[in-house]
Amino acid sequence: MTITPDEYRARILGDIEPMAAFPQPLMECLGLACAEDVHADVPLPGFDNSAMDGYAVRYAEVADASADRPVQLPVVGEIGAGQANLLALPPGAAAKIMTGAPLPTGADAVVPYEWTDRGVAQVRIEQQPDEGQHVRYAGEDVAVGDLVVAEGTVLVPRHVGLLACLGRARVAARPRPRVVVISTGSELREPGQPVGHDSIYDGNSFLLAAAARQAGAIAYRVGIVPDSPRDFLAALEDQLLRADLVITSGGVSMGDYDVVKEALAPRGVWFGPVAMQPGKPQGFGRVGTEQVPIFCLPGNPVSSFVSFENFVLPALRRLMGMRPEMRPSVTARLTHAVRSPKGRRQFLRGDYQLDASGAHAAVSPVGGPGSHLIGDLATANCLLVVPEDVTELEPGAEVDVLLLDGAF
Ligand code: AMP
Ligand code: MG
Repeated sequence: MTITPDEYRARILGDIEPMAAFPQPLMECLGLACAEDVHADVPLPGFDNSAMDGYAVRYAEVADASADRPVQLPVVGEIGAGQANLLALPPGAAAKIMTGAPLPTGADAVVPYEWTDRGVAQVRIEQQPDEGQHVRYAGEDVAVGDLVVAEGTVLVPRHVGLLACLGRARVAARPRPRVVVISTGSELREPGQPVGHDSIYDGNSFLLAAAARQAGAIAYRVGIVPDSPRDFLAALEDQLLRADLVITSGGVSMGDYDVVKEALAPRGVWFGPVAMQPGKPQGFGRVGTEQVPIFCLPGNPVSSFVSFENFVLPALRRLMGMRPEMRPSVTARLTHAVRSPKGRRQFLRGDYQLDASGAHAAVSPVGGPGSHLIGDLATANCLLVVPEDVTELEPGAEVDVLLLDGAF
């Protein structure tokens, strides 16, 4: 029985749990989902400090200072960033202070150099600061106890920087899944090796490993396994040790040499048609003692890519503790007519463009529907989605588009 892509994705996601989180060094956490609510243990700023190079003063003591009527104060010392040598400012005095240096108690404003004669023993102040001017107060940015990063946040450089400023060397985050990619096909050769008219280069293991890596996984490309169930099972067995998820390419349709299906269907992996084009033959299940999830994708390069986008990407995101959505989905007006088979959701390759105003989006089909057209796949910047019940769309029709890299 045929199932829809949405039903199939829901079935897969229902079977996949986020991986266990553990404390990881900050730099390893970039791009990972935070697995704790991080509350600040310390305030930011950590202490009252100067926002300028200048003089710490009591603002009331330099009232009405002007170029004509400057106020002269003795300078009792100098405080640099990282120095805590002058803890209190005596009344009737100023202290030289640098940006980031702790403000001595008693001081309530900083007069920048530009408003003074930069004196060393005495300073002439030619303008009165407001109360608190150029002072950065403890906790004005982040207070102790503030929630600074919520559980589930995907950590970007700004979060990494903030966590470091709060003194966190590690944070609980969900790890990157280790993804093993195996391509099958006796016709396949490694790039760099000679090919004849009986052989082709293995593109899919590169395509899929790159896609997995871009999704945040650690991808291991196993390379080529010939169309022999024994060789395939041996390669799979070898790889399961280091895999949180396995992707295979090829050997899942109705042919005589459909090695993946032949080897894994008897081992409980589900194989069946999904109502989509390309990507109709699919397989998903669990293998080995660790019951590692395995995705068995069809061998045509465009089919394997569309299958990855529809099913593997959401699963990887779920493993990583992220929302399992696919690519950003927008609508655009078709520039050319397209046809689509009845009863199957079609994913055509498209070129998505915004007009100069940025308000109107258009999408043109790129190449034909053939699932071997990897040249067109590479020049496209979106997948154009034609629903199951639609067989023809005219120019001007509004269609759903999944934006790929290069759409912006
Ligand atoms: P299969 O799903 O194994 O029947 O393969 C379908 C088509 O995709 C055939 O024309 C294969 O030669 C081609 N194909 C399979 N695997 C790859 C691969 N790794 N790279 C490029 N093309 C492939
Ligand atoms: Mg094959």
